[in-house]
Amino acid sequence: MFAAEKHDEKLFKQPSPLEDCPICFLQLPYLDPMGKKYMTCCGKSICSGCYYAPVYDNQGNKVDNKTCPFCRTQTPTTDEESVERLKKRFEAGDAKAIFNLGCDYRDGTDGHRQDHTKALELFHRAAELGDAKSYGSIGYAYLHGRGVEVDKKKAMYYYELSAIGGNTVARYNLGNDELRAGNMNRAVKHYMIAAGSGLSESLEHIQHLYSNGYATKDDYMKALQLYQAYLGEIKSAQRDEAAAFSEEYRYY
Ligand SMILES: [Zn+2]
Ligand SMILES: [Zn+2]
Repeated sequence: MFAAEKHDEKLFKQPSPLEDCPICFLQLPYLDPMGKKYMTCCGKSICSGCYYAPVYDNQGNKVDNKTCPFCRTQTPTTDEESVERLKKRFEAGDAKAIFNLGCDYRDGTDGHRQDHTKALELFHRAAELGDAKSYGSIGYAYLHGRGVEVDKKKAMYYYELSAIGGNTVARYNLGNDELRAGNMNRAVKHYMIAAGSGLSESLEHIQHLYSNGYATKDDYMKALQLYQAYLGEIKSAQRDEAAAFSEEYRYY
């Protein structure tokens, strides 16, 4: 097989689902930061439904819950405490914590001085530990010259790694890039995968391409099916309840 074909075979594969919520065991939504919360106590990502779910005492009365629904650690009461906990997760080699710290250095938030070189170093570390979003952040740095010289080729290389690892936003950006370049076939392929990972915008793009003759009806039907199947995996009454309570818990 030719190298380009091999590359495409890897690139256009539907990524495996993200981890499940450790409490209800349902698939976590792909889209960040929707529908899930990263816990700095135990490093678990918990779904919005389980995070919001009311807690009852022995008499069946609702109690004010101030503990992590997974490990029962008290939730931090101050920003300093949150930062301290994230630091501990970082020291434990938690990829998500390393990524979060990278974002703090990139944006100059949470008491960190903006430092693009340091941010990139952290993104590389988290990416090596399997954090797909970090590859996307490296791609972004190359695209816009943050801490490195602008290099479009490298940017695309990292966006592809991110998309292969399951970052739906990177996948969508690749689709947009192919669309701008007039490669409709490749754009549809990217949007198809993004639809199967819950990005409704990519479904709309395929519909638009279909009505303009750049995609087939079968393409659109398949994308719709993939999107519905995704919803079937992630929807639950408990998550709906949380979403009805607050926009913060919206998950698709
Ligand atoms: Zn859950
Ligand atoms: Zn916890």
